Amino acid sequence: MTSLLNVDRAIELILMGLETKGPEHIGLTEALGRVAATDIIAPINLPPFANSALDGFAVVASDMSEASEDNPIGLTIVMDIPAGSAPEQAIQRGEAARIMTGAPMPEGANAVVPVEDTNIDWEAGDPVTVGDKVIITRPVKIGAGVRHVGESAKAGDTIITKGTIFRSAEIGMVAGLGMSDVLATQQPRVTIISSGDELVPLHEPLTPGKIYDSNSYSLMTLVKEYGGIPTRMPVARDTLESVRGVFEGALAGRPDMIISSAGVSVGTADLVRGVLSELGSVDFWRINLRPGKPLAFGHLRGVPFFGLPGNPVSAMVTFEVIVRPALLKLSGSSDQDYYTTAVAGERITTDGRRSYERVTLTRDGNQWVAHLTGTQSSGALMSMVLADALMIVPEDMKVVEPGTMLPVKLLRQPRL
Ligand code: AMP
Ligand code: MG
Repeated sequence: MTSLLNVDRAIELILMGLETKGPEHIGLTEALGRVAATDIIAPINLPPFANSALDGFAVVASDMSEASEDNPIGLTIVMDIPAGSAPEQAIQRGEAARIMTGAPMPEGANAVVPVEDTNIDWEAGDPVTVGDKVIITRPVKIGAGVRHVGESAKAGDTIITKGTIFRSAEIGMVAGLGMSDVLATQQPRVTIISSGDELVPLHEPLTPGKIYDSNSYSLMTLVKEYGGIPTRMPVARDTLESVRGVFEGALAGRPDMIISSAGVSVGTADLVRGVLSELGSVDFWRINLRPGKPLAFGHLRGVPFFGLPGNPVSAMVTFEVIVRPALLKLSGSSDQDYYTTAVAGERITTDGRRSYERVTLTRDGNQWVAHLTGTQSSGALMSMVLADALMIVPEDMKVVEPGTMLPVKLLRQPRL
């Protein structure tokens, strides 16, 4: 076997030449899945004021140090503090304020006694009579029932670091700090090209020798999944004019990346190769990867270009392994891969290339067990449909005995 390019080296070579896109302001409701383009600093404390964690009575804790069933302590209720109000006065020793969850602590109080620990029974909204006594039969610790200023975030704290992907928690946090928009990295625009005389658009009938173009759809969806904005070109026919026309059309849209599938294996490469060499400089690599050995990478008029293998599984796996890190770099996020480990549930053989086997995962005690999803043919997309994960068999491990522990890359949350 002539020498094959190591997968990690290929990724390194690709990433070297790629630059992260610039920032843009986006509304918070658009931020899910987007990448923070800058650190986000809290402009205020959260919570902005000390407040009660429960419905009860704000007190001076030391008033209660001797409290017990045998020594009930009576405090005079001097005010009522509903949520959203600001207390008008301070608490003195011997006094209490009725306080609602989230309402500001009055000056002088340093603990909140839950209403359940007092003689008073109230329904939300019931009035309380100022001047009445509240009886407490238990001591309370300083700080109990109080949420402190800046407990969640302090003004000046970095709450989200550049490169973080916004999820619901980050979006809620940013909203809590009163910010209605954020700076996110612009989404990479990616154009997808399929080629081949055998490919038929989905709305046309299938005639002998033809198949439907599935790669355009799986690749578009992968682009979306990893934060890009895909555009799909019409299928290129196996003629120089058609291939050239589709690539020219793709470049006219000024995308951040072009991905084609098919036409990079020996024998089919010449047509596409000819057009690529007119439009830029592209290297044809043979990667130590299964499925997905042939791969083209280069630049067409400055636009990064990936030529993926045509077989539907190979196209998807090379995307996951090689294109994804590149797309993430353009969008400014670090590799968010979700890897775990699993033991092989059966014997697996490979040809010695690093192999990404499509597997289902089942739980056995405290480990995942991986079983192949039927045929591993690089043309059989059902092997991906059924897969929970890709099991990564390292280079040169030609036989994986049952029970061998290997890394897996999750494709979805496995069913327990
Ligand atoms: P090629 O690299 O052109 O020889 O294609 C390799 C294999 O992938 C052939 O079986 C093609 O029919 C298949 N193929 C290529 N492009 C697509 C596509 N867009 N959708 C489904 N299968 C494809
Ligand atoms: Mg072809």
